Amino acid sequence: MKIFIDGKYYDEKNAKISVFDHGLLYGDGIFEGIRAYHGSVFRLKEHIDRLFYSAKAIMLAIPMSRAEMMKAVLDTCRRNKLRDCYIRLVVTRGVGTLGLNPRSCKAPSVIIIAGNIQIYPRELYERGMDIITVPTTRNLHSALNPAIKSLNYLNNILARIEANNSGYEEAIMLNAEGFVAECTVENIFIVNGRKLMTPPLSAGALYGVTREAVMELAAQMGLAVAEPNLTRYDLFNAEECFLTGTGAEIVPVVKIDGRVIGAGKPGPVTKRLVSDYHALTKTSGEPIYG
Ligand code: PMP
Repeated sequence: MKIFIDGKYYDEKNAKISVFDHGLLYGDGIFEGIRAYHGSVFRLKEHIDRLFYSAKAIMLAIPMSRAEMMKAVLDTCRRNKLRDCYIRLVVTRGVGTLGLNPRSCKAPSVIIIAGNIQIYPRELYERGMDIITVPTTRNLHSALNPAIKSLNYLNNILARIEANNSGYEEAIMLNAEGFVAECTVENIFIVNGRKLMTPPLSAGALYGVTREAVMELAAQMGLAVAEPNLTRYDLFNAEECFLTGTGAEIVPVVKIDGRVIGAGKPGPVTKRLVSDYHALTKTSGEPIYG
């Protein structure tokens, strides 16, 4: 595997960054998780835009333009002769002193890893997932805005640990007001009749690229799409529920906190969105090989 670090490619064993990088010392940095399907990178521009928005929010000057970043992602896939892969793009604050002050960091580092996709087992997609709400609430947007895809993922990791400790794969996170925010690495949706709903970004959700794609597909199917505040009650009484994320794609949810959702199996709207989403990943994207 060839890994991109600051414009050069390194073998896996030589792909290293300094222990003085503030990305490691303080989680001071941002990242993206991107996927390529059939030789094309899905929604690359949207991911690069989100990376630059995260950078702006934390006042990190990415040492590359958007176009250069897109080119570097495609080039990393090409170097590794990949057609279907998961791409992790990381920008750290860079090497600094041991103190917290980011002013000591003179040069941000850009890392691009293109590797294998780790997804949930196949049967989970067929059967649907059983998930729970956990005590750890989503970060306050007035403290660390969940819209920033930062290297500080402890909020999500704590929630995931709580789910795992109770024997579950994924957790629903509420915000400080008790409204549904999202899961630890996916956005959440419910379906009632011809209406698709997902929490608003202000509830403490990441501006998910898959979320956006699914909302577009739903609108094309003639569904009404809304972003109201949702409570656990709304989830329990939904006809269908599913999660969206780059890695997981669309995962049906059939049980939440012990309550069976709808018919207790992946519903017709979810199934249709899964097939439309797969079709979209096959027919769109930024070509890796020209
Ligand atoms: N929420 C969180 C907290 C995430 O980490 C992710 C994965 N990037 C998502 C939602 C889904 O976003 P996307 O569809 O852009 O992968």
